[in-house]
Amino acid sequence: MVTPGDVDRLFLQAVLSRGIMSIELAQLLWGKCIKAVNDSDSTLKIPHRQDRQSWEAFISKINDSLDKLELEFRTLRDETTGKEMYALATYLFKSSVFQVNLKGDEVAQLATDYTPPEITFFKAIVEQIMLAPNESFVISDMAALREPSAIGLTTVTKIQAEIILASFVQKGWLLKSRAGRYTLSTRSLIELQPYLKSHYPDEILECTICMEILTRGVACHTANCKARLHFHCFTTYRRRHGGCPSCSAPWPANARDHPLVPVGEGAYSGLNNQRRTRTTTPSEGDENEELEELEEPTQNAAPAEGASKQPVEIKKERRGADMDVGGEEDVPTQPTQRRRSGRH
Ligand SMILES: [Zn+2]
Ligand SMILES: [Zn+2]
Repeated sequence: MVTPGDVDRLFLQAVLSRGIMSIELAQLLWGKCIKAVNDSDSTLKIPHRQDRQSWEAFISKINDSLDKLELEFRTLRDETTGKEMYALATYLFKSSVFQVNLKGDEVAQLATDYTPPEITFFKAIVEQIMLAPNESFVISDMAALREPSAIGLTTVTKIQAEIILASFVQKGWLLKSRAGRYTLSTRSLIELQPYLKSHYPDEILECTICMEILTRGVACHTANCKARLHFHCFTTYRRRHGGCPSCSAPWPANARDHPLVPVGEGAYSGLNNQRRTRTTTPSEGDENEELEELEEPTQNAAPAEGASKQPVEIKKERRGADMDVGGEEDVPTQPTQRRRSGRH
């Protein structure tokens, strides 16, 4: 027998098979689920109201039923487009082993997408993105490929690492830029948010306007001013206000204009981009290891941009050389035995 509850069930089935979707698609699916249920029993006549309030009531009802599974259908604006997106936050990374102990077959399938070494690799990439200097929240292609050996994941070769990384991108966990750098996708920002907040409380940034997590956007140029805005939040805010919401410094009309400072890939300079670990434990030879991991600067590389947010403690000859541009393939990789001192 068909019941109105079947709309929720159909909707969840539809969203489970998709990682992330726009609000338009989510609402379209909702409408289709209502229609399917109404079509199979003409006495039901479930109404389909298209206003925001009805949508939010539906989502809240869905989340009530997901609560016991520790799942949530959550929304976040895409940091690049400003579009409202939805994803089913599985909290895949909630537990320390990154496994979901759920009974539902469909849900368990999401967790079994990756093997434990792949999840360890992913976690390491997330860590390097979160610890990246200058609030760049990015890891270069080459650094990402070196990550398995850097964390002692000897079972993952560079070629395998390349395949796994491509799968992280293909499944929507990471974004890869034209310059070959990886950043966290909106899907990751939705699903990993509890994990990021608990593991990287000092690195995680919040938009001054919408209070949501921020990994790309713009920072106020005033020294020590904490204002950080998504591009879409900047645009909306700037229409009505001439200056910073925190320190009132006058701002240019465009978020990408001087003297505002980029957050995200725009802040990546190639400088000072050796691997980071959670806490620095000064130990013998540690510095040498760090230097070994640095790549030789490439000549004629474009001058780095946006490297001004924090002092760059690096030898002078490296200044201005974007170490991520070209020539990297020839740099021998040293497998490091350095222990990671991260929180777990
Ligand atoms: Zn915002
Ligand atoms: Zn400010």
